[in-house]
Amino acid sequence: MMKKELLIAELEKTDGIFTLAPAWVPRSFMIPGKRLKLHPDDLYALGKERGGINERWFASTTQADNGPETPVDEGLSYIVIKNEGQIHKVLLKEAIEIMGDDLLGKAVMKTHGGWTVLTKFFDNYGPIPFHIHQMEEHAKDVGKDGKPESYYFPPQYNQIVNAFPYTFFGLDSITTKEDIKRCLANWENGDNDILKYSKAYRLTPGTGWDVPAGILHAPGSLVTYELQKNVDIFGMFQSIVEGRSVPRELLVKDVPEEKYEDLDYLVGIVDWETNTDPNFMKNHYRIPKPVSQLENMQEQGFEEYWIVYDNEYYSAKELTVYPGKSVHITDDEAYGFIVVQGRGYLDRVNVECPGMVRFTDLTSDEGFVTKNKAKNGITIKNESEVENLVMLKHFGPRV
Ligand SMILES: [Zn+2]
Repeated sequence: MMKKELLIAELEKTDGIFTLAPAWVPRSFMIPGKRLKLHPDDLYALGKERGGINERWFASTTQADNGPETPVDEGLSYIVIKNEGQIHKVLLKEAIEIMGDDLLGKAVMKTHGGWTVLTKFFDNYGPIPFHIHQMEEHAKDVGKDGKPESYYFPPQYNQIVNAFPYTFFGLDSITTKEDIKRCLANWENGDNDILKYSKAYRLTPGTGWDVPAGILHAPGSLVTYELQKNVDIFGMFQSIVEGRSVPRELLVKDVPEEKYEDLDYLVGIVDWETNTDPNFMKNHYRIPKPVSQLENMQEQGFEEYWIVYDNEYYSAKELTVYPGKSVHITDDEAYGFIVVQGRGYLDRVNVECPGMVRFTDLTSDEGFVTKNKAKNGITIKNESEVENLVMLKHFGPRV
């Protein structure tokens, strides 16, 4: 069968719920945190040179920009279709190219041209270097878009917090532009000490943060459910992390060549006012917000919270269905989902959170729900007598 026919048959069979295969991504410059349920023997399944696997991407239509050895489909999610005893795989990216109106709705296709959110778990042993993602005005200097990102720390994946459960955000309000210029000028002299101008916040499972473009940040070692605009753009501002040198090329990776040594330009990338906001935590910390009256939801056998919100680019919800309960849940847009605890059914589609996964295994914990299906609603049944069924749902921009 052709891809389109396979997709149409699958949509008819499931009424609009696709099962997705795990998309594992290695990073050569990070130490993997070993909490993504990947079998320990498979941590370096792609070879030592490509690095340990410390990310899993969800409902991804974004190819990983990950060095010269990167396979063409790295980072991309496959729809898994079981048809007449055979297993077929179609890239979610291709499915959206073929029938985006059916998957995301006409309005989203017209305004955004596809699925513009990249969602992932990242799982590191220690901190990521202090870095920034350019705002629109600097991104366009290199022909790219600006990049906001948001974090949530799922408790189910954070029983162990690893080496540095703190994230540095922004700059202290007494910092001057001269201070940061001095740090950048000192790049080759060892640790440029930029972290002394920032503040670290203790990360708490079950909460999150909103990080607009232009904010300096050094994410800590919790397993992070991250939503971001699907653009690869960044600048590293820290010259040494965990004793490892960060090449200066990574500071100017997305800067016009004539600005490589221009400290005013480089400091200009920083959204100064937002970075030095004395109310940074008040404005960017995210506590889950019930999507409707909590007692009502609890009486029906579930709880649902916004976990990523107040953001025009994407949003996310956490849905918990109590043991043995069956609930009907509607949403207004298409979404991807990852089951982080328990087992059950989404209509007739079986879902379960795995205990352990081999690198090439398929799983039943991930999927994608079309816009129509989301609007009509899904009956979600928790098959366990004792354990909650918990899923995280990632949405693109609203139209
Ligand atoms: Zn970042």
